[in-house]
Amino acid sequence: MSTVRTRFAPSPTGFFHIGSARTALFNWLYARHTGGCFILRVEDTDSARNEERYLRVIYESLRWLGLDWDEGPDAGGAHGPYKQSERGAIYREFLGRLRASGRAYDRDGAVWFRLAGARRVVREKYREGDRVLEREAEVVDAPPVCIHDVVRGDVMRAEDRDFVLVRANGEPGFHFANVVDDITMRITHVIRGEDHLSNTSKHVELYNALGVPPPVFAHIPLILKGDGRGKMSKRDRGALIEEYQARHFLPEAVRNFLCLLGWTPRDGREVLPVSDVVAQFELADVHQANARFDERKMSFINQQWLRLIEPGEFSRRAVPLLREAGLVAGGENAAFVQSVLGVLREKLPGLEDLPRFARYFFTDEFERDGAAREALEKKGDPVARVRELLPALEAVAGFEDAAALDAVVARTVAGTGRKPGEYFAPLRYAVSGLGGGPDLHSVLRILGRDRVLARARRFVSGA
Ligand code: GLU
Repeated sequence: MSTVRTRFAPSPTGFFHIGSARTALFNWLYARHTGGCFILRVEDTDSARNEERYLRVIYESLRWLGLDWDEGPDAGGAHGPYKQSERGAIYREFLGRLRASGRAYDRDGAVWFRLAGARRVVREKYREGDRVLEREAEVVDAPPVCIHDVVRGDVMRAEDRDFVLVRANGEPGFHFANVVDDITMRITHVIRGEDHLSNTSKHVELYNALGVPPPVFAHIPLILKGDGRGKMSKRDRGALIEEYQARHFLPEAVRNFLCLLGWTPRDGREVLPVSDVVAQFELADVHQANARFDERKMSFINQQWLRLIEPGEFSRRAVPLLREAGLVAGGENAAFVQSVLGVLREKLPGLEDLPRFARYFFTDEFERDGAAREALEKKGDPVARVRELLPALEAVAGFEDAAALDAVVARTVAGTGRKPGEYFAPLRYAVSGLGGGPDLHSVLRILGRDRVLARARRFVSGA
């Protein structure tokens, strides 16, 4: 069998949507799985709606997701140019072929594709503003074509109207340019959103008219909103890739999540390296049922990936955030920063939470969480508990040894009838201002005796 060639064919008319990213990913996965070629083609014939900045977002998002392309506008390749706006000569040549075989004709300034089949004229209603008008239209009894779709099976569809090949303004229409490009770029597998299935009978008609066997189609399921009501739109939270970038999601995690929108690994794992997906990704395993966007799953996967990446990688991504928040300036003890990151990593919901979680390690100017304090006060007076702890805390030489804290608490608890737990949470609050966080022994060890004592005293004094 010839080498698999897949393509991602975005129109740069808006920001990069999660559905487009998933389409790009599935094309990339299949190309990588088969040792084939992944092509980026820019469908920019609609000059009124295309913008350079949208194209930049597409490039940046694909790179961020690690989806490298083998041929494309800036990568080059033997089947270019890879922007439709630069392929006028190729479209003219193919139009010439259709004209020569009688399958293209002019009407109202546009060039139309002629379907094969008996024609009849019908009267039909149409709308113009609020008015409903009537007109005559030509309907064609074209025999149905068969769309071989690996995901949906064989789908029979019949077109019943001629359609535009080249618009009156001279720009090639979507169907024509799309098919000519897939032919000339030798695309073997067209993997795209299910919303394009309704276009595919036109495409198969074009292949047949040009005497070229159609590629294999794979129409991948729609992505529904979290509540299952309707298709995810660009206004929905989580719909744009740049949102994940801005919120410092890990690209590995976003890519992992996208893999699961319409596909499941054989062993049912949710968190898995992309190399494992590449190894097993078959189009026949893509689901027919619509996928659902689950924001909680996305966060969960991101949290898992935060623990999976190498420590060095974690700090490479985390340190800039600490710097942006003004918590580190570059001159501090690197071992200290690493130990803070080391303990926070286990508890961190997402990198965007890092500055808030890390602040108290780097400065005494941290806020106290009011809700956490209220929760503590329901169980007793946190200030009183820390005051009771102070003498034993002051007697400790340091917290390098995890047993030191337990000894402090044990000594304080003795004879009070209270439980150790009633002291740990107020002490955490005193030194961090938070109701939760990493293991308290580690927190005290990293903060060190002097800061722990100073903060405990300040808390007791009401400051
Ligand atoms: N430009 C089309 C889109 O963005 C491409 C459709 C296709 O993949 O064939 O939806």
